[in-house]
Amino acid sequence: MFNLPDLFNLTGRVAVITGGGGVLCGAMARALGNNGVRVAVLDLNGEAAERVAADVRSDGGQAIAVVVDVLDRSSVEAAVRQVMDAFGRVDILINGAGGNKKQATTSPELPFFDLPPDAIRWVFDLNFLGTLLPCQVFGKLMAGQDEGCILNISSMNAFRPLTRIPAYSAAKAAVSNFTQWLAVHMAQEYSPRIRVNAIAPGFFLTEQNRFLLTDEATGELTPRGRTIIEHTPMGRFGDPEDLLGTVLWLLSPGAAFVTGVVVPVDGGFSAFSGV
Ligand code: NAD
Repeated sequence: MFNLPDLFNLTGRVAVITGGGGVLCGAMARALGNNGVRVAVLDLNGEAAERVAADVRSDGGQAIAVVVDVLDRSSVEAAVRQVMDAFGRVDILINGAGGNKKQATTSPELPFFDLPPDAIRWVFDLNFLGTLLPCQVFGKLMAGQDEGCILNISSMNAFRPLTRIPAYSAAKAAVSNFTQWLAVHMAQEYSPRIRVNAIAPGFFLTEQNRFLLTDEATGELTPRGRTIIEHTPMGRFGDPEDLLGTVLWLLSPGAAFVTGVVVPVDGGFSAFSGV
């Protein structure tokens, strides 16, 4: 018999969430933890990870916090061991660690011609290598289990680059491209029961973009912030909770035949031509 709740049931699964101490992936960790998923919150910021894990536990769920640097393979391997000790398997990997920085962002004071290579490399590494490396380490585990589900976090920049942030745009385009590549590779070389997808969030006010979208002194929208709202047919920034339905769908048995897709969750931003 067709049972709708079964399609979206993730009870008992184990999810590893990098960047889980952050705004968007913290919301995902709490939502999964509140719905029977055992959650490992991985973050460079141990206190932030512990806060999210503690929230899950205080709501009756199971969660651990693990300090990890997604750019350091031995750190990711140590994290796998901690997760395996705690939960014994990994069903889901969400690659949420990512972000941009001011020094890789053009401005009147910092023209494109002077963007420092170090800052460009920092942004590219965090978003692209920081996604690929956990996929290597946890993907190998999933290959051994003959099943698993990976969810990467791309961005609107991947479809069309946004002004001012060339490294972040290119890195997120690489994340989308890699999502397709890895979906094919895992299905063909290891198991059709390992799926790899991505979401492309629209605009959410978080620590990494607050300096671009709101005025530090007044809290008012910057011209860039206003332009984004004007180009979002739904007329607002997203709330982290707006991502949860799509995340749940992509992770769940309801998406069993879905792999290699990048789903925009953007209030219509990517559909709107501006006219
Ligand atoms: P956030 O800054 O709140 O969270 C990112 C987390 O990653 C932080 O907790 C940070 O400590 C962690 N992190 C940074 N470097 C790390 C490293 N080397 N190893 C492990 N953890 C590390 O950002 P957010 O807005 O919640 O973003 C989450 C993801 O969503 C990112 O990939 C971001 O690029 C993407 N995204 C955000 C938006 C948005 O509007 N905020 C839009 C599209 C995509």
